[in-house]
Amino acid sequence: MSPVLPTYSDVVRASEILAGVAHRTPVLTSTTADGLTGARLYFKCENFQRMGAFKFRGGYHAISRLTPEQRKAGVITFSSGNHAQAIALAARLLGVEATIVMPEDAPAAKKAATQGYGGKVVTYDRYKDDREAVTRALQQETGAALIPPYDHADVITGQGTAAKELFDEVGELDYLFVCLGGGGLLSGSLLSAKALSPSCKVYGVEPEAGNDGQQSLRKGQVVRIPAPKTLADGAATTHLGDLTFPIIRDNVTDIVTVGDDQLAQTMRFFAQRMKIVVEPTGCLAAAAVLHKVVAIPAGARVGVIISGGNVDLEAYGRLMAG
Ligand SMILES: *Cc1c(COP(=O)(O)O)cnc(C)c1O
Repeated sequence: MSPVLPTYSDVVRASEILAGVAHRTPVLTSTTADGLTGARLYFKCENFQRMGAFKFRGGYHAISRLTPEQRKAGVITFSSGNHAQAIALAARLLGVEATIVMPEDAPAAKKAATQGYGGKVVTYDRYKDDREAVTRALQQETGAALIPPYDHADVITGQGTAAKELFDEVGELDYLFVCLGGGGLLSGSLLSAKALSPSCKVYGVEPEAGNDGQQSLRKGQVVRIPAPKTLADGAATTHLGDLTFPIIRDNVTDIVTVGDDQLAQTMRFFAQRMKIVVEPTGCLAAAAVLHKVVAIPAGARVGVIISGGNVDLEAYGRLMAG
């Protein structure tokens, strides 16, 4: 059975719901980056989004679509990364209780950030317990609505509002580069690109060590891989979703990969040249452009989504030192 896929009109509805709540993030340009590539680059800076990443868009949109009864029972998700913080913050803004299931050994800073936004953290043993089983048991107990990090129509269309804002601001583009984990951001961006800039070539960019999306595109079906080891922790997913895969398969130009060294170099470029803090995963799309993984003709207009800026300062310091 094929699932009902979201469309661009759902992205428009999401953008109406997010107006005045999510930040309309800035689009930066850089003469240095243009000089290095020969293209005209437009960086959509979701590192300046609330809680530091685009995930706020999908999380808020999904919770705001729940009925009053569903809201009373709260929401639940499993994540130790940006999605956890997004759900915690969005739930607090909407007056909904949020439970976040995280591994016991998740970084203390991430647990604290999630709790700081009002989320209730429940931990499990990564080596003994199955995270989805833990989540399902809690969900049955409380009746909370599960909001997964990417394979959910309202999450996908919420994420698609970032690319919509980019096209609304700078007009049609020749290329758009988007990072790829589970595919929420890429599939949402594809819906916006198809409607607002139909001839734009859209590339997904994955970490080299976790190229399940690229393999899936080649094979024509979702390929699962073991948990990859990469600097890009936000894209260390093991498979695309039942909704994100068909949207990506039918609309993406191609999926390419970049290595950890290229991510670290791109982080330093952003710090030194553009004065912005970007987390390793947030550098995926830019790394593919700056390292010319895709040949781009001179003068082309290229959109690049910078997806987030949440990085532990100690790790940041080490990466800055090279
Ligand atoms: C979640 C995340 C991604 C990957 O997004 P998907 O929707 O899972 O593809 C990329 N960058 C950052 C900063 C993220 O938090």
